[in-house]
Order: sequence, then structure tokens, then C-alpha cells
Amino acid sequence: MTVIALDGPAGSGKSTVAKHLSQQLKFEYIDSGAIYRSLTFYGLQYLGAGCQGKEEEIANWFSENPDQIKITYEDHTQIMWLKGSDISRQIRSPEVTREVRFVSDSPACREIVNQKMRDLAEKYDVVIDGRDIGTKVFPETRYKFYLDGKPEIRVARRAKEMNIPLQGEAFDQLLKGLLDRDASDMAREIAPLCQAEDAVLVDTSALTVDEVVETIRKHLGSS
Ligand code: C5P
Repeated sequence: MTVIALDGPAGSGKSTVAKHLSQQLKFEYIDSGAIYRSLTFYGLQYLGAGCQGKEEEIANWFSENPDQIKITYEDHTQIMWLKGSDISRQIRSPEVTREVRFVSDSPACREIVNQKMRDLAEKYDVVIDGRDIGTKVFPETRYKFYLDGKPEIRVARRAKEMNIPLQGEAFDQLLKGLLDRDASDMAREIAPLCQAEDAVLVDTSALTVDEVVETIRKHLGSS
């Protein structure tokens, strides 16, 4: 099946663009960050405060109970389920955002999430957003894009989504969190965030969602 890989840092517009693109192309959209977030949510919910040091336990639980975290699609939008409950909103909490790095830095967790995505890509044509989709998970795909943008623009997008004013303490904290996450995603030993050599770079700073989607579609058409 066809895989379109969209990688890039937080706030670069990947998930919005992936949703639009998958709806237009009638592909499914896999939000890989949401799978890491769901494992993190499980850890916080069932293994006590904090995920650091519990990564192996989380990976073992998921590999022994693969059906406890389910992914379904409604109108090409991904819904995440844990033990039968829809957790799509809860996985966006600041606590999950803070803790997810422990799970996503864990080789055992990455392996199991990657396998889940490969299984989905055997069944569906997919647009996948993440950090290492074009470099590590589907290096063989012809369709790779790296979305990037200025940090102040990326953080302003996140603030709007979260109804946070564009200045003040909450905004400063959001900016710090985003820069910390960029640094940890880029510095990790396995599957760091980086642009694949054969990926098309799209700077989304000054582009609307429609313009980014159009840019990608032009490349798809010409490749
Ligand atoms: O994209 P999102 O912000 O929801 O991803 C949550 C976290 O999961 C990221 O900060 C990153 O550390 C991690 N992640 C990853 N590899 C991916 C997708 C997400 O390491 N393919």
C-alpha cells in the first residue's frame, strides 16, 4: 500500500496537514505521536505517577495485550482507545505531553509502535505523521516530506489550539516546553528527529494549511 511520510517538529503543522491530505486522497491518517501518547497515558493511569523507569513494563504490557490499545478511524480521523474507552482527548493533556519523552525514547516502546504502524500500512493507504517515519519506519517509501517552521510560529499555533494568550507566563511555558521537546527529539540516540536525505523540505512558517497541502500534492503528482 502507499505510505506518505510527514515528519517534523511539534507545531510544524503535520497533523492538520495530514488530516486534510488523507481526507482528500481517501487515505487513512496515522498519528504516530498519538500512539506514544496512549502508551504514556496507560503508564500514568495504571502504573503510578511518572513514566520514567517504567518504559519496559509499558512495552511488555502492550506486547502481551495488543488489543487493549485500539486504533479506529472515523471519517479518516484517528480515534485512540484504551481498554474500551476513547482517550483521544486525554492523551493531549500537559501531563502526557511532559511524560511522553520517556516512552518515545525507549527502544522497546518504539519497536512495538513501529510494528503497529507497519501492520496498519499493510491494510490501508496511509498518511503518517511523526518524527522518524521517513528515516526509520518506512525508509523505502517514495513519498517523504519534512515540515518545519520558526519556533515562535509553531508555538503560537499550539497556543491557539489550547486557547492560551499569545503572551504571558502560560505562553512562555509553552515555548519552553516546545523547545525542550525539539531538543530531546533531535538528541535521542535511537530514531532522532531529522530530515531524511530524500525528503522534500516544506517550511510552513508563512504558508496556510491549504498551501502546504497543495505543495505536497504537487510533489506527489510529479514523483
Ligand atoms: O506529535 P506529538 O507531539 O503528538 O508526539 C508526541 C511525542 O511523541 C513527541 O514529542 C515525540 O517525542 C514522540 N514521537 C516520536 N516519534 C514519532 C512520533 C512522536 O518520538 N514518530
